[in-house]
Amino acid sequence: MDDFRLDEDAIRLTLERASALAPGCGEIDAALSRAAAGARLDVDDVAVLWYARTVDTDVLADLARRARGARVQQLETFSPLYLTNTCDATCRMCGMRRDNDALQRETAELDVVEAQLGTLLERGMQAVALLTGEYHAERRPWAMRYVNAALRAAERLGFHHVLVNVGSIEEHELPVLLDGIARRADGMLAGKVTMCTFQETYDRRTYGKFMGRDPENPRSDYDRRLTNFDRARRGGFRCANPGVLLGLSPDVAFEALAAILHVRHLLGAGMEVYLSTPRLRRVAGSGADGSITGRGVDDDDFVRLVALLSLALPDARLVLTTREPRDIQHRVAALVGVLSAGSSAVTPYTRHGARFPLDASQFEVIDQRPFEAILREHLDAGVAIENFRG
Ligand code: SF4
Repeated sequence: MDDFRLDEDAIRLTLERASALAPGCGEIDAALSRAAAGARLDVDDVAVLWYARTVDTDVLADLARRARGARVQQLETFSPLYLTNTCDATCRMCGMRRDNDALQRETAELDVVEAQLGTLLERGMQAVALLTGEYHAERRPWAMRYVNAALRAAERLGFHHVLVNVGSIEEHELPVLLDGIARRADGMLAGKVTMCTFQETYDRRTYGKFMGRDPENPRSDYDRRLTNFDRARRGGFRCANPGVLLGLSPDVAFEALAAILHVRHLLGAGMEVYLSTPRLRRVAGSGADGSITGRGVDDDDFVRLVALLSLALPDARLVLTTREPRDIQHRVAALVGVLSAGSSAVTPYTRHGARFPLDASQFEVIDQRPFEAILREHLDAGVAIENFRG
């Protein structure tokens, strides 16, 4: 199967057509009928319903809830575990960017990482995302070996699901990253290990603005990042987690359609797919209002986006995180497949909670309650939580 390519012109044409439709026209009714019937929405429907503001967002959320049917009662979870907050890239919206002097740098020793994994397990959390920055050529061998050691520890300790969020990986680096990790007879990874790389924005111009254009910057290559999952799949990964950081590009509809096409490509390649759509948050060293130069996405647009993605991607799992406040978590919990809770600081977990220091974190986490309390609310409401023994 070919690597993913995005036809940006085709998306813009679809959006142009949809945005020009008159309120109450037949195409809007037809898209609504398909949503009401529980049919999988195509990208044209999503574009039409994004712009059809005579259709209330709560109506779309209700349709998405009904379309998900039985699966509403099931959520999966994981906690992020930052191994380090160092990075050689300079993404403008990120607290970990190399040139952010306001951030206190930390890198955990492996025994600390293992102790943190143990703490998560003791607290009932059985799924974890391992995170680092992205590095220049000379530091990449260290990073691959470091993450590999953490991944091996997580596998040895029996985590049910491990996500690795460590940047784009080259073909020749994958054997180092996955050295010693159990494989099936067909060469694919035996355990559930997910490659997690967010494009952040699918708009090339916005990507260049935030992630940079300097070829020396390890994050600046849009196409290398876009094809990371294809390389990962060939290297043995069965699961992928792409994502969009909402607030970088003002064109949320473009991001939605691009993400849908990316997810469908990965599903078509036989991968299990998660999709994250976090909203931009405050970081250390940013302005008083928290924004660097990105535009925010308001609550209504956020819920509308999640509802439409849910209707368009019934075979993927949407990921919601505690970057969102409690009221938004409850508003969209029935539309997503995953609720991730935890801190974006380095090895932050204690026996009963976590540290949330903004000056040592990638970004601000809004809901800082212990993950047990966050998940308990959903358990008490009758929702089964996969990967949490509460
Ligand atoms: S978004 Fe990732 S690659 Fe970019 S500066 Fe932050 S940690 Fe580094």
